Amino acid sequence: ESSEQKQLIDLNEQAVKLYHHILMNTKIGQPALDYLHKRGMTDETIVTYQLGYAPSQRLVKPFFDQRQVDYQLLRKSGLFSEGQDGSLRDRFVDRVMYPIRNANGQTVGFSGRLLSTDSDMPKYLNSPETELFNKRKILFNLDFARPNIRSKQPALLFEGFMDVITAFQAGIKSGIASMGTSLTEQQIYDIQRITREVIVCYDGDAPGQKAIKRAIDAFKETNHQLDLKVVSIPDGMDPDEFIRNRGGDKFQALLKNAQSPIDFELNFLKKQSNLQSEDGQAAYIAAALKLVATVSSGISRDLYLNRLAEEFSIDKEVLKQQLAPMIRRTA
Ligand code: ATP
Ligand code: MN
Ligand code: MN
Ligand code: MN
Repeated sequence: ESSEQKQLIDLNEQAVKLYHHILMNTKIGQPALDYLHKRGMTDETIVTYQLGYAPSQRLVKPFFDQRQVDYQLLRKSGLFSEGQDGSLRDRFVDRVMYPIRNANGQTVGFSGRLLSTDSDMPKYLNSPETELFNKRKILFNLDFARPNIRSKQPALLFEGFMDVITAFQAGIKSGIASMGTSLTEQQIYDIQRITREVIVCYDGDAPGQKAIKRAIDAFKETNHQLDLKVVSIPDGMDPDEFIRNRGGDKFQALLKNAQSPIDFELNFLKKQSNLQSEDGQAAYIAAALKLVATVSSGISRDLYLNRLAEEFSIDKEVLKQQLAPMIRRTA
């Protein structure tokens, strides 16, 4: 870590304190605090995650100017946007601020959320890519979750960091999330270094289901050694909404009943198929067999064939013959 990186981390951490102070102790922070309380967040959680508020007054630039912080350092921090003339203005305006920490617990960036999604501005605004902040490398909450994952809780991979925080508040403390990007090879590698057990808990809406499929594919591409499972949250909810509406225990029950990736993919495939037509059925069965062929246990493959045979009233022997040449021989 260079001395410049240290200075940038220090700058971020001063900003964390400033945003947090504005949220907790000032009148201009009150609407943001009300917003978080309405979302069910306790003060303890707000303190644990050092959440804050960036008001519309643009106070951060004058705050650092008063402390005579070097212009180049401010420029590189990602906290400001730069005008044509090189002047810096607060980048985050009227947003709830979520500090983003790296695996060592150092604050390397922020994500800011609008209090209301009525405007056409993006709901979340992240720090730009900086020397410190590379969102493809960050796993949100990894520093808090790691000791719990190491003590044998499965790593829970969420879509949004709000899901991570709500789960944490409900006592489910092994959650991590990517920063709105699809899962990268680096992130999979970082997960693999601490555990073999991962449960994907993405949103129950259609984009979330597509993202699960992409995550499964990303895991496959890395030749991972992981025991991967998938949870489907009912009624289009995301984990944050589910836990707030139904409670942490119900969420734990979902985790217990997590599916294998194959079961998820078969389901996903089925929803996209037109099983009314014979062509659609044939296409589904062909694709399903391709998936079954990747199952390493012969017994499991056989059980899938039973299911398919029954479901479509086909002769199991026919399915078996189709499957045989697709199975990769390993000896
Ligand atoms: P909330 O409950 O506050 O609406 P969420 O976690 O449910 O938040 P989603 O819309 O499900 O948000 O998005 C999941 C993740 O995708 C977010 O945590 C964020 O990292 C990222 N994301 C969503 N919208 C944006 C956006 N407009 N710009 C950048 N990242 C975004
Ligand atoms: Mn979503
Ligand atoms: Mn969501
Ligand atoms: Mn949500």
